[in-house]
Amino acid sequence: MDIEDMARGIAAGERRALARGITLVESGRADHRALATNLLESLRPLKRQALRIGLSGTPGVGKSTFIETFGLMLTGLGLRVAVLAVDPSSARSGGSILGDKTRMERLSRDPKAFIRPSPSQTHLGGVARRTREAIDLCEAADFDVILIETVGVGQSETVVSEMSDLFLLLLAPAGGDELQGVKRGIMEMADIILINKADGDLRPQAMRTCADYAGALRLLRKRPQDPDGFPKALTVSALEDTGLVKAWDEMQVLSDWRRETGHWAGRRAEQARFWFLSEVREGLLARLRREPVKGAMSVLADKVGRGEMTAAAAAEELLDGYLAARG
Ligand code: GDP
Repeated sequence: MDIEDMARGIAAGERRALARGITLVESGRADHRALATNLLESLRPLKRQALRIGLSGTPGVGKSTFIETFGLMLTGLGLRVAVLAVDPSSARSGGSILGDKTRMERLSRDPKAFIRPSPSQTHLGGVARRTREAIDLCEAADFDVILIETVGVGQSETVVSEMSDLFLLLLAPAGGDELQGVKRGIMEMADIILINKADGDLRPQAMRTCADYAGALRLLRKRPQDPDGFPKALTVSALEDTGLVKAWDEMQVLSDWRRETGHWAGRRAEQARFWFLSEVREGLLARLRREPVKGAMSVLADKVGRGEMTAAAAAEELLDGYLAARG
């Protein structure tokens, strides 16, 4: 595998090279990992940046429909759009695969769009790294917008928000008491809440839900990185393509403001540091799980299990021993 060729292809925006690059960063093989690191390092000097938009919502809320309609609107404006997914497989429901091309048929045929379905991995840490690196590759391939889709469960939102510039929460019209169903933490992550399905009979309900969330958002602490009025709630219909132009306008207002005030760059730097620490943590654990340390680790784990040592003392002993052995 010629990494230089691949890097050239990706930098030139060739989809095949990009797809192969993503396959490489997804691989679990140690030799592939080394190549993937080289590939990413050789593309880094390009310093290309896309607008990274995280999108979360429970199954059935209309994520694929939204991505298809919104993606086509963006490509219609001449923008190149990539779609990635963070999908801890334990969170999969009804067998639906995030970023599945058959659910975004028109967008997947659009030459200005690139859709990458989520790989079948179980471990959220692995999915996070793969997605982060896929984002880097898409940016190197000069995409303007990267949509990162995730399901509305557990930790995956946090992971996606740690790699996005903007975070959208997609919700369905609901009765008033369902407002409590959205965890506060997730609401606090959202820059824009979109109430989808604001069409036909559901429209009045969508308007009410939107007003409820707008009220709830006003109660949250105003964030220093936001202009007045954010975070905000809007209604859209992904099916009928209404409200999406307005939503895109608002996303641009927010991202322009953050760029001008330096919050954009600050956030990216903070995210990079966060992921560095996460790589150190994962890397250290992976090394500790290799022989001969693995043996000592299981002995200590057993001692902790039997109550012969505290977790903290055992961890310290292991790390001291490991680091001392490394000089
Ligand atoms: P996902 O599981 O979040 O990706 O949701 P889908 O995009 O697959 O949509 C789930 C269902 O909701 C499908 O039957 C869609 O046709 C429907 N749906 C999606 N968006 C809208 C919308 O804006 N209005 C209406 N009425 N239905 C929608």
